[in-house]
Amino acid sequence: MLETICDIMTDAYKRNWITSRDGNVSIRHHDRDHFYITPSGVRKQTLQPDQFKKIKINKWINSGNGVGVFGYGWEDVPYTDISSALRPSGEIPLHFGLQKEMGQHSNDVRVVVHVHPTYCVAAMHAGIDLSTIVDSFPELSRYTKVAPNVGDVPPISQELADQCFEKLQLDNNGKIKFDIVGIKGHGVVAIDTSPWRAYEHIERLEHICKIVLASGNY
Ligand SMILES: [Zn+2]
Repeated sequence: MLETICDIMTDAYKRNWITSRDGNVSIRHHDRDHFYITPSGVRKQTLQPDQFKKIKINKWINSGNGVGVFGYGWEDVPYTDISSALRPSGEIPLHFGLQKEMGQHSNDVRVVVHVHPTYCVAAMHAGIDLSTIVDSFPELSRYTKVAPNVGDVPPISQELADQCFEKLQLDNNGKIKFDIVGIKGHGVVAIDTSPWRAYEHIERLEHICKIVLASGNY
């Protein structure tokens, strides 16, 4: 599936959803304690599977005071010679938080895609909360659950990650209530069981945002 991720990022570039070095994707199989993430600063038009970073998820329990408290950490582990010279995407706090427990995807695969689609970002810039346009467009709401927007937060920050978790209603078991969330002045994050399924949430929302903006009625 790493090759499929390369395909969707090439497509995202062609659609102007990212500039060359933008965007990032992670993928985790339910029976593995690691996930793969796109490297930082690599051109997405030429992204190759052997450039991905392999990230191990470490889970620990602090049982002080007789109360078990879970904690998580991540570790960059060797994958290929090419990837060892690269760093993981700067948005790793976001991907790690969404991959450390798999929630509704715990018998499957979880893919997290972050890109900057033009009309989604334009709609948020125009003051539209993406979750509110769903009601008027059943072809969107049938297939894609859109979370309320995340406000202005710095890119590649823990704050961005935390705000996304809150709006997506991520719980302690990794269950996520929504399929996609918009980050104002920045982009979107979509989650599903395959790269193309996550991509389709973005495509659907982008199409409706284009329609809403073209109508001038918002
Ligand atoms: Zn971004």
